Amino acid sequence: MSDETATSAVWLIRRARPLGGEPADLLVRDGVITEIGPALTATGAHVLDAAGLIALPGLVDLHAHLREPGREDAETVQTGTAAAALGGYTAVHAMANTDPVADTAGVVEQIWALGRRAGYCDVRPVGAVTAGLGGGQLAELGAMADSAARVRVFSDDGKCVSDAVLMRRALEYVKAFDGVIAQHAQEPRLTDGAQVNEGEASGRLGLTGWPAVAEEAIIARDCLLAAHVDSALHVCHVSTAGSVEIIRWAKSKGWRVTAEVTPHHLLLTDELAASYDPVYKVNPPLRTAADVTALREGLADGTIDCVATDHAPHPLEDKETEWQAAAFGMTGLETALRVVHAAMVETGLLDWAGLADRMSVRPAAIGRLDARAYLEGSGAPLHGSALAVGSPANLVLYDPAARDVVDPAAHASRSRNSPFAGLELPGRVQATFLRGVPTVLDGKLAR
Ligand SMILES: [Zn+2]
Ligand SMILES: [Zn+2]
Repeated sequence: MSDETATSAVWLIRRARPLGGEPADLLVRDGVITEIGPALTATGAHVLDAAGLIALPGLVDLHAHLREPGREDAETVQTGTAAAALGGYTAVHAMANTDPVADTAGVVEQIWALGRRAGYCDVRPVGAVTAGLGGGQLAELGAMADSAARVRVFSDDGKCVSDAVLMRRALEYVKAFDGVIAQHAQEPRLTDGAQVNEGEASGRLGLTGWPAVAEEAIIARDCLLAAHVDSALHVCHVSTAGSVEIIRWAKSKGWRVTAEVTPHHLLLTDELAASYDPVYKVNPPLRTAADVTALREGLADGTIDCVATDHAPHPLEDKETEWQAAAFGMTGLETALRVVHAAMVETGLLDWAGLADRMSVRPAAIGRLDARAYLEGSGAPLHGSALAVGSPANLVLYDPAARDVVDPAAHASRSRNSPFAGLELPGRVQATFLRGVPTVLDGKLAR
């Protein structure tokens, strides 16, 4: 593939199946879908035979740790967004727990600029809620919102904003620019020293348990706070059946609460912790099979709005150690679509349109990248649009019939801590387009 081909402005995608429906040709010109129909022609266009492939809107991740600045040995914006493109993503939110912390306009603009330079995805920095993630005073939320990075999602992820007064103030503050507070819901005192889900598995292993109530108590409190000040709360990585019930209740009240679930919490259980392999050590922990069932049902019925990866790369020395000393976290960008295919589509819980809604449309709306934010002149790029004439050509072509064993050594991420290593999963991302420019072709980076 020559550079000229990879950046060509006109692409004719033949016989793709938009959202898994009937095959159609898509013509992409100057970054926009300009025609959809049977047997299109365009002189000089680069032709991509997509027979058998499903076309989905480019995926949007609300939650990834790209580790730059500060931990470039684990990941960089370049390697993390390459991994994202290979996973079918066109936009990624980069969490704020970098070093230095993304708590000022200067740091979020630096991360945003690194994303533009890499060119694989639109990188949307998440701003810290509190200065230095210290939980003591609010960070410069307004300055980050006004910066070139146009921050709309704020989170201390990795840590919980456990102080109710600070959480209330943050929720009130972001209303001025239609922001959202994304909470890592973990009551700190109830999880002091916690290592695995509290239950049968923690008892057997003799490790400190992580009770479901530590997550659920914070979610309940934050839903009430969001309602009290009429602001927008987003709940990160929901992991328990009780959390799903609380969010369902909050939504039934009409409160502005949204939530995400990770691919690993949709597929894996705490039984894996019994192996003592720290690749399964994650925050929040893997839970029980009953929790997995409730999370799948919550995602299927829309209680949980979207899938977010919580991609958390770590170098080998931080993971290949004894359980108690190992870092929390798993990679996920390159496998998310395939895991959701296995957990939700193969089980009949979601069709391809439903998957597109949970992995592109809704996360784009929560991240303020949807058409409404765009029309309001937020300055943010547009994602999560329908595959329709006039939409920006952010799309992924996916082969649902492919199947192979996950090999993290082949991943573009700088880290290898995938809990899906050695597992056979369906599907393959064949191509990803960002505003009409292929970032992935034939399952490989296009540049
Ligand atoms: Zn978290
Ligand atoms: Zn996280």
